Amino acid sequence: MERKVLILGGGVAGMQTAIALNGLGISSVLVEKEQELGGRVKNYDKTFPFFHSGKELVKELEDRVRGAHLVEIRCGTTVSHVEGQAPHFQASLGTGNYKIPVGAIVVATGFEPFDASLQEEYGYGVYKNVITATELEHLLDPGGPTGGEIRRPSDGKIVQRVAIAFCVGSRNEQLGHNYCSRICCSFSTKQAIEIKERHPDAVVTCFYIDIRTYGRGFEEMYRRAQEMGITYIRGRIAECGVLPNGDVTIRAEDTFLGKPIQGVFDLVSLSHGMTPALDAPKIATMLDIDVAEDGFFECRDKDLYPNDATREGVFLAGAAIGMKPIPDCIADGNAVAARVAAFLAEMQERN
Ligand SMILES: Cc1cc2nc3c(=O)[nH]c(=O)nc-3n(C[C@H](O)[C@H](O)[C@H](O)COP(=O)(O)OP(=O)(O)OC[C@H]3O[C@@H](n4cnc5c(N)ncnc54)[C@H](O)[C@@H]3O)c2cc1C
Ligand code: SF4
Repeated sequence: MERKVLILGGGVAGMQTAIALNGLGISSVLVEKEQELGGRVKNYDKTFPFFHSGKELVKELEDRVRGAHLVEIRCGTTVSHVEGQAPHFQASLGTGNYKIPVGAIVVATGFEPFDASLQEEYGYGVYKNVITATELEHLLDPGGPTGGEIRRPSDGKIVQRVAIAFCVGSRNEQLGHNYCSRICCSFSTKQAIEIKERHPDAVVTCFYIDIRTYGRGFEEMYRRAQEMGITYIRGRIAECGVLPNGDVTIRAEDTFLGKPIQGVFDLVSLSHGMTPALDAPKIATMLDIDVAEDGFFECRDKDLYPNDATREGVFLAGAAIGMKPIPDCIADGNAVAARVAAFLAEMQERN
């Protein structure tokens, strides 16, 4: 029986899975399709709710995973084919020339940001000063294109009036995305605070449906934002437009006051939701596992086995099972390693 584990995806969830398996004396192959490890988090200068560095977190995980003697890292490739049954899987990488026998497989392929141009009313992709939260994250990065100053794309002007639209691409029946993406209220609030810290005179207005800041330290961050003078208006932005100077006009409704409102902003950031990784359907077919109605991978049992896929010997970690913040992905890496260890021990006993 093969005790090696294949981990698909080298983001924080995949890396922590490999580190935890190494600690349990189980060897793994960590396969990442990009040239670098770290997934999305390697691009974040500051993370909610404690404003720690995402880049430093990734560096620490990467140092640990590269130093783990039972982990083989393969970047710039993916799994193209899987044959056999657990615990005797045979996985082929890349063009199929490299084959590895593995006893179990962990899928940690993460998420894809919602394509904001699909909500046409915001004009993303048409109006230069309507950007996404992922692009705003890049602007907030001192190592990014503007050195961390929030300059609007059309003319490089430092922003004074910023609107942040929550729930873009989430909680939307028309798009077939009924689910809440769970973390966008928090990363948007973190971004609003960072804008105010960089440019204290800036007026930052958040348009929300409900505020969902459920985790430890999240609500405190939301309170801090309000104390800093960041305005929260309950209501969805109905439409954006553009003025000849590049300013963005918005029409919305304040659902607390029951009144339509209008405004003019230098920059509008769309807090997009998250959708499953682009190749999730392909991976599901290749591994013969199910995806749920929302497109994320389905668990064997949501209460008892949240990290087991619907096929024996295949496991799930991180945002591949549904959106979650970084600490939950790390916890998932540890949980899935324990599940894999128990599974391999059970298989060994059966044999
Ligand atoms: C704008 C924004 C800001 C955020 N800010 C925060 C924050 O401040 N704090 C916080 O806690 N969370 C934040 N998050 C959430 C955070 O990004 C996720 O929790 C985290 O990225 C999930 O990690 P993961 O490893 O599950 O997935 P990912 O980070 O998506 O990593 C998945 C990895 O799998 C790889 N992969 C995909 N398909 C394959 C394949 N077929 N073969 C091989 N490799 C594959 C990808 O290339 C990627 O490297 C933010 C999210 C967004 C969108
Ligand atoms: S976390 Fe907040 S912004 Fe994101 S979908 Fe849920 S309610 Fe909307």
